[in-house]
Amino acid sequence: MQIPSPARDQRHDELRGLCGGAVFLPGDPGYDDARIPWNLLVDAHPAAVVYPAFAEEVSEVLRAAARLGLRVAPQGTGHGALSLDSDLRDAVLLRTSAMTELTIDRERRSAWVGAGVRWGDVIRRAGAVGLAGLHMSSRDVGVVGSSLGGGISWYSRRLGLQSGTVTEVEVVLADGTVVRATDDEHADLLWAARGGGGGFGVVTGMAFDLFEVETVYAGMLVWDIDHAEVALRTWARWATDAPEEVTSIARLFNVPDVPEVPEVLRGRQVVVIGIVVMSDGARGATLIEPLRAIDPQMDTMDVVPAASVATLHLEPDDPSPAYANSVLLDELSDEAIDVILRTAGPASGSRLTTTEIRQLGGAIGRPSSRPGALDRVGGRFLLLGLGLDPDPSLWPAQRADSLKLLAALRPWAHRSVYLPMAEDEVDVERGWAPSSWERLRAIRAAADPNGLFVLPHEPARTSASRASGARE
Ligand SMILES: Cc1cc2nc3c(=O)[nH]c(=O)nc-3n(C[C@H](O)[C@H](O)[C@H](O)COP(=O)(O)OP(=O)(O)OC[C@H]3O[C@@H](n4cnc5c(N)ncnc54)[C@H](O)[C@@H]3O)c2cc1C
Repeated sequence: MQIPSPARDQRHDELRGLCGGAVFLPGDPGYDDARIPWNLLVDAHPAAVVYPAFAEEVSEVLRAAARLGLRVAPQGTGHGALSLDSDLRDAVLLRTSAMTELTIDRERRSAWVGAGVRWGDVIRRAGAVGLAGLHMSSRDVGVVGSSLGGGISWYSRRLGLQSGTVTEVEVVLADGTVVRATDDEHADLLWAARGGGGGFGVVTGMAFDLFEVETVYAGMLVWDIDHAEVALRTWARWATDAPEEVTSIARLFNVPDVPEVPEVLRGRQVVVIGIVVMSDGARGATLIEPLRAIDPQMDTMDVVPAASVATLHLEPDDPSPAYANSVLLDELSDEAIDVILRTAGPASGSRLTTTEIRQLGGAIGRPSSRPGALDRVGGRFLLLGLGLDPDPSLWPAQRADSLKLLAALRPWAHRSVYLPMAEDEVDVERGWAPSSWERLRAIRAAADPNGLFVLPHEPARTSASRASGARE
């Protein structure tokens, strides 16, 4: 819709005055840098990009947006931007990166983070005092965004989802009211923040538990791609029965020729099994014997500081074009592995950067001790088809190959989906248990009655479904 120019000028003036001037409007020199998220597949053009530094500035943004008939899309890093509507022309993109407060309480084993804090900062600061958080496989992912989605960590099979560690949140509701939610006050909002994916307000900060984890037995086992069959079959049997102190991720990996990966792997096609064992070296070595018995060509397993796990998965910190979509699997039978190899294995012609299988189960599949919208993730494995190629001409093909892989595994699929790793069109209701979905919708409707917030996975409008992998 074309806005008449006096109204447009008034709108610009009002937006320009927000956040002490930390605002970028279309045409401003910094607008392009401000609007581009971590995920470079997304090319949204919001009405404004704003950088509030504290909760009261968030309130001002929400009130101004409502007055001007705009919606609001909160965003931390943009790692989840592909799930978001790519047409943000009638929305304010509210970037939280200026809210960087980080406090570690060694005695209480807890942290408070502002909405702009990334996992890398928590890992470093908590690690320095012998503590660890349930961080994601990339240290660059936002703490608040990943906690809102659930958060499956290298430590989750023993300690549960990150969302289950959240003890308090500060939220700005759609009408601009700032509230602190705990188990005693505004308990519904805290419940929704534990895995409800947002949509009830802008979270400006949160408190969560840390754990005494100083060292782990961790590393990678690597084989050339022609060992894919034996490595995957052996790993699947081993992972199905492994104790909860073990977490592992198996990947068929077309390793990019980039500095983030060890030189010895660059440009190769390999099978990589990343493993973290929350134990000492002797027990760790005993536990992984069945995998060592199939002679990995590279073996980096050792006792390491827990903080080093942050880079074990070799993910890019820099903004990247990432298409990621997944399916939860109830089991990983020999037949399922045959299908994976036929669809994405070395002879399949698949153009995916990685075909990744994450081991779930243990505490991930049990209700967490703190109630939340997502208090567990079902299925024993999560299969992810990931495209990360810098060449835009490959993006549609990578999306197609990922969708083909997930469709082929449907006979083994769990009934639910893990939304933070399902970045294409998806039946959002399957992200939660039916009763949790109903309660979450009611909480969102009460906190945001006029639909101010742009939600991830709004039907048929996400970036992936609109662009089919191509930038607009
Ligand atoms: C490289 C990579 C590695 C990953 N590894 C893991 C992993 O190991 N385990 C796992 O479980 N997931 C993982 N993920 C998925 C990740 O947890 C989600 O993409 C998560 O949403 C990212 O949060 P973010 O704040 O960084 O991203 P953003 O795109 O900034 O945020 C995602 C969504 O969260 C909501 N949101 C963010 N901040 C706020 C706020 N302050 N207030 C209200 N709503 C907000 C918004 O709806 C936003 O669209 C990974 C993703 C990538 C790209």
